[in-house]
Amino acid sequence: MTPKLKAYRAKREFSKTPEPVGGLVAGEGNRFVVHKHHATSDHYDLRLQVGGVLKSWAVPRGPSLNPADKRLAVETEDHPLEYIDFEGVIPEGEYGGGPMIVWDTGVWAPMDDVEKSLRTGSFKFRLAGEKLNGGWMLTRLKAKPGDDEKKNWLLFKERDLAADTALDILAERPESVKSGRRIEELVEAPKPVPKPAKPVVLKPGALPGAVKAPVPARIEPQLATTVAKPPDGVDTREEWLHEIKFDGYRTMAHLAEGEVRLITRAGLDWTRRYGDLPHAFARLPCREAVID
Ligand code: MN
Repeated sequence: MTPKLKAYRAKREFSKTPEPVGGLVAGEGNRFVVHKHHATSDHYDLRLQVGGVLKSWAVPRGPSLNPADKRLAVETEDHPLEYIDFEGVIPEGEYGGGPMIVWDTGVWAPMDDVEKSLRTGSFKFRLAGEKLNGGWMLTRLKAKPGDDEKKNWLLFKERDLAADTALDILAERPESVKSGRRIEELVEAPKPVPKPAKPVVLKPGALPGAVKAPVPARIEPQLATTVAKPPDGVDTREEWLHEIKFDGYRTMAHLAEGEVRLITRAGLDWTRRYGDLPHAFARLPCREAVID
């Protein structure tokens, strides 16, 4: 286990967050990721694979393809390599709680020795991603008096063919390169609280034309009539709706005094073949019914 992940792990409760514990994957490589992260404040996280971990910077306003835009990038704790593919929702109340998408990913290359660049605070590199490409620069800001840590950098695009002074890449390409989803789509709409169902009191005897009579042993189901052409309703001034006919089994449920029988159109008793369905009918608040 690399000691570089101590800060990362200390901030997180892995029984509560879907983020990776990390440390299982190690090794060489030069991948990068830019996460879009809606936490307490919305920001982007630039992460470069360096020495078995992901060096990370939080970029509040996100990267810009315009070399004139210098964006604040705050150095954050090293993240495990597994984090490169992380996309999901960190639960509310946890560190960094909120949704996160893989906004861009690819490979990167330093233009000079990485250790030296990080030490001197002048870090030139190239990106080959789906949205970000070409030369980039991270330059460390001088610590303000009283600040003992030098964590603030500026991120900006170098002048080259991948620079673009007109295109707002953040607005133009908001989606995840991993799933195609926008960050807003990761947050599920809060589920409406179901209202307690009022017990329905059925009074079939109150229906117009109702006649008191014993339950018939069998009711012929109403059937459709085959025609060559769907009616347009022009002649009859009727309005028609058309729907797809789904295939299935026509069944009549006969309820009588807590007994349920499921009878097919051909008159076969299929009660046993329907598994749990008879129990669902048995719970209906009525003594007798035939349901098509
Ligand atoms: Mn973040």
